[in-house]
Amino acid sequence: MKKMKYILVTGGVVSGLGKGVTASSIGLLLKACGLRVTSIKIDPYLNSDAGTMSPFEHGEVFVLDDGGEVDLDLGNYERFLDVKLTRDNNITTGKIYQYVLDKERRGDYLGKTVQVVPHITDAIQEWIERVAMIPVDGKEGPADVCVIELGGTIGDIESMPFIEALGQFSYRVGAGNFCLIHVSLVPVLNVVGEQMIDPLFASWNKLINWPMNFCHLVYHVQKTKPTQHSVRGLRGLGLTPNILACRSTMALDDNVKEKLSQFCHVPAEDVITLYDVPNIWHVPLLLRDQKAHEAIFKVLNLPGIAKEPSLKEWTTRTEICDGLHERVRIAIVGKYTGLPDSYLSVLKALLHASVACRKKLVVDWVPASDLEDMTEIENLDAYKAAWKLLKSADGVLVPGGFGDRGVQGKILAAKYARENRIPFFGICLGMQVAVIEFARSVLGLTDANSTEFDPSTRNPCVIFMPEGSKTQMGGTMRLGSRRTYFEVMDCKSVKLYGNRRYIDERHRHRYEVNPDIVGRLENAGLSFTGKDESGQRMEVIEVPDHPYYIGVQFHPEFKSRPGKPSALFLGLVAAACGQLDALLQGFESREKVNCEIGNGPSNKKVYQNGYATKPANIIRDAIYSYCNGLSCTVI
Ligand code: GLN
Repeated sequence: MKKMKYILVTGGVVSGLGKGVTASSIGLLLKACGLRVTSIKIDPYLNSDAGTMSPFEHGEVFVLDDGGEVDLDLGNYERFLDVKLTRDNNITTGKIYQYVLDKERRGDYLGKTVQVVPHITDAIQEWIERVAMIPVDGKEGPADVCVIELGGTIGDIESMPFIEALGQFSYRVGAGNFCLIHVSLVPVLNVVGEQMIDPLFASWNKLINWPMNFCHLVYHVQKTKPTQHSVRGLRGLGLTPNILACRSTMALDDNVKEKLSQFCHVPAEDVITLYDVPNIWHVPLLLRDQKAHEAIFKVLNLPGIAKEPSLKEWTTRTEICDGLHERVRIAIVGKYTGLPDSYLSVLKALLHASVACRKKLVVDWVPASDLEDMTEIENLDAYKAAWKLLKSADGVLVPGGFGDRGVQGKILAAKYARENRIPFFGICLGMQVAVIEFARSVLGLTDANSTEFDPSTRNPCVIFMPEGSKTQMGGTMRLGSRRTYFEVMDCKSVKLYGNRRYIDERHRHRYEVNPDIVGRLENAGLSFTGKDESGQRMEVIEVPDHPYYIGVQFHPEFKSRPGKPSALFLGLVAAACGQLDALLQGFESREKVNCEIGNGPSNKKVYQNGYATKPANIIRDAIYSYCNGLSCTVI
């Protein structure tokens, strides 16, 4: 059996260096070389998972198909590698301890003293080996390479058991199967220096009134000491880096690489600079240009097996993204607008859709509570600023959320978009507020509410789900991939999803639309186009005579990919920039051509039914351009 190869990515000096993006980019680069890649993220905190953590502190909680509530870095992996990970691909201290303590309670340790070394460290290694074998790319059998990202910074107390375990692990899997990439920081200091000026030079250059015989110069000095220190720390803990990935504002000078090589015992050609780039899609390209894959293959004994990286599509998309200048403004009306990471996947999904529509995405963050009447009284400037942002947007998005702060503001935003025919997309809580708004404004039920915000409302249009738990918070929501069946076939959401009868999207909620009020809402013009298999859970709403007014109970942002934007995000952005009709027509033609072409050879002429009279590949290209090239897959 072939041996799994492991790449460990650690971080030094400071947090927030983009270790997750670096690790995902390494994975993508290796995938582009023809290898199958999986990934594991280690978070050394004590929480069992990210489900109970505030987005204010840790950014969004990413949700997986299996219902795992995990760190947002797993979202980066899924997007970059186009894979589907499992909850076990996110290891936390909490999970490991729980596993070991459960074993201890069962008596599995046979009277032994249970200790961090060897019991916790063994459990970590077993977990990694087990999870690395799970196929995540839809193919059979384990991947070739597993990228493991260790969260936090070298030297953190909480990560010590993991470092110890990984040190043992590198020894256990053996040289040639383990590669350590250390992501570090090379700060650039601007040092002001003085340069003597020759009086002759001054007069030649007509610096007649030059006051002194020297001038000031600013030197950019690349400092290696922080990296030296963190590598020393790493080595002190028994781990030796094979490759250094240095974050810096500029490319490293050769002499700086030499110095790092000398002090950190890494060959100079394996010191890679990740300098600042306009968007993160450049990172894999930066790694490729500096031949990071060759350095990795050398360490992992892979030369000859892997191919040269082919990143043509990725490069094209990155260049397209850089060159966009016509803007599309989307207002995100939310509660956690101070920390964009709280809505990371929503942002990425909007970006994927904007690139497909060839528009430069501008996100206007509107703090929901600033739209409320109370703010008009308490902070008029904030109120005016929020409404100005909302009113200048081409499209409005209300994302998911918990708790009642800002809910009234979200309801006002939904009302504004509905009444003024501005494209609107509500996700989870965003859909629930759209339903509340409709019930209040159109049905005249002024106290309509969700029981999450007003448990005693006389008109509960959003209610607690029967199977949920109000006391146990962790992992008790309706989580993960669930199926939605489309009930109405002639509507925008179905068309955008390619006229599929059903879709699978990820969920994370405790409340849902009250089925008892659905009939009245429907009679008043709100269409419930998608429901679950029981027909009792409302999954998709639409206002049919609005240019684009859609709400969904699920979170489609989690399955959006660069080059494969999520359908309803694409619809929102297309509607916001006046491309929705063309897009929907494109889907209609696609549908027609799919019927005609089937899976036949792409270069054969197709004459059936008199529809498609051109070679299938030409039709395919035409549809691609209809749908802006990157936005759809044409079979
Ligand atoms: N708070 C709402 C619920 O639990 C919405 C959740 C969400 O937006 N993810 O149903």
